[in-house]
Amino acid sequence: MKRIDADLLVIGSGPGGAMTACVAAEAGRDVLIVEEGSHHSVDSAPSFSLAEMDQKYRNGGLNVTFGGTSITYLEGRCVGGGSEINAALYHRPLDQTLREWRDQTKIHGFEPADLWPHFEAVERDCNVNLVPGGPGPAADLLKRGAGAMGWSTRDIARFWSYPAKGEPPLAGSGRQSMTVTLVPRALRAGARLMPDTRVLRLTREGGRVTGAIAERSRAGEPHERYELRAKDVFVCAGAVQTPRLLRRSGLTHNVGDTLQLHPMIRVTAHFPEPMNDLGYGVPTEQVDAFKPALTLGCSYSSVPHLALWMGAEPTPGNASAKLDKLRDWRRTGIFYVAAVGTGKGRIRDLPVVREPFIRLPLTTDDLKRLGEGFLRLGQLLFAAGADAISTPVNGGPPIRDRAALDAVASALPQGKMTVSTIHLFSSVPMGADDRVTGTDSYGRVHGTTNLYVNDASLFPASPAVNPQGTVLAVARRNVLEWLGG
Ligand SMILES: Cc1cc2nc3c(=O)[nH]c(=O)nc-3n(C[C@H](O)[C@H](O)[C@H](O)COP(=O)(O)OP(=O)(O)OC[C@H]3O[C@@H](n4cnc5c(N)ncnc54)[C@H](O)[C@@H]3O)c2cc1C
Repeated sequence: MKRIDADLLVIGSGPGGAMTACVAAEAGRDVLIVEEGSHHSVDSAPSFSLAEMDQKYRNGGLNVTFGGTSITYLEGRCVGGGSEINAALYHRPLDQTLREWRDQTKIHGFEPADLWPHFEAVERDCNVNLVPGGPGPAADLLKRGAGAMGWSTRDIARFWSYPAKGEPPLAGSGRQSMTVTLVPRALRAGARLMPDTRVLRLTREGGRVTGAIAERSRAGEPHERYELRAKDVFVCAGAVQTPRLLRRSGLTHNVGDTLQLHPMIRVTAHFPEPMNDLGYGVPTEQVDAFKPALTLGCSYSSVPHLALWMGAEPTPGNASAKLDKLRDWRRTGIFYVAAVGTGKGRIRDLPVVREPFIRLPLTTDDLKRLGEGFLRLGQLLFAAGADAISTPVNGGPPIRDRAALDAVASALPQGKMTVSTIHLFSSVPMGADDRVTGTDSYGRVHGTTNLYVNDASLFPASPAVNPQGTVLAVARRNVLEWLGG
């Protein structure tokens, strides 16, 4: 087995890992980043395409939790992690959310005022910007429908760099994912990157972690095992894989018992006029009025995505009806309800299988909340002029009026809907109260001297907004503390 030594081993190169590696390398530390996925350029496949899912998603996007309703979850598996494939929407969380976190698990040094400089640095370093010239017709439509209902909306900034008006795109403009921003900075500062390399387990001597055993797998090459030795180790493998790796390495105290997520339902809505213009990219408008519990918005509505979310035809085998609907894609868009979930999930390793088993209930409160969100979304879409909305209930008929909307929204059925998520967190919560946390207030795993978590796993609860900005800001705070404040 080959041996590689470093001062700091960073496992995973998503937002948490990229920030950790970048800050540590620029402070002069000898950093080794190990990433299970491959290293692709940000534009190596068209956004939201099957090729992209194949290259950059864990299991091509086919992951599920088990409970009364199975929840499909998506994760990135590539250098840059989720930042390479996501909608890149950026939020700061509310003060209220940060204070609730601080009180819930007794996090030291976690006043909103302590956090804002880290968010400012993220906004600067990862080029957070509003879409110049407005976010496009689908977003306008969401705004119009919400306006008619008297609800506030907001145009959400993105990790995105836009060319000046009338100018051609510059090199490096577009999505500001980790492979465009923090990973190259880390590499320029001397960090080493091992893609296609999965950490199998951590190596320990009592409370000290000595490194990890990893395996590199590349198509057409024999698998190669490595012994990685480091003075300190940061695990940033994301909210599912981080607790899994810790548990496999014998670290189980409040690890992998409290996974939380934002359950989402997506539906398609048909309008009399064309409203789907893919040239605008992801529509960036969200309805603010029901936050923090609920967010309503619109998604990128390419034909493959429409096919996914418009549901099966009520008459089994009626493929031609679905094809007709897809041909009318310019009049059809995807809209979503995202809720703050109340269920907590357990992540466990299964023998032999490469992926973990996650048991997570979609609770009665979640169903009620999603139902309320779907009712609001339907009201908004009808107010904006929709003539039909697909139902979130498997095999159900399209919804064409308020009575049908009320009936579906008031009784969303357990186990008979497609529920998905792209926001997962809270599986190794941080804080000084070690009865409920897996790490201290800055991510050091309880019972260890030199092992840290620094990714979405650390959130004590939902950030109630798209999480990447908070992952980056909290990771920056923690790695600076590790460097000496
Ligand atoms: C489709 C989609 C859309 C999204 N849209 C948004 C959005 O618009 N705005 C927003 O704020 N958030 C969004 N998110 C969520 C956001 O991407 C995540 O919150 C964020 O990426 C989490 O960062 P992380 O560092 O915790 O983990 P990840 O980004 O998951 O990174 C973890 C990395 O670790 C690697 N890894 C895992 N296990 C190992 C191992 N054993 N050895 C080596 N490497 C390993 C993985 O391959 C991965 O690259 C979206 C997510 C998805 C999937």
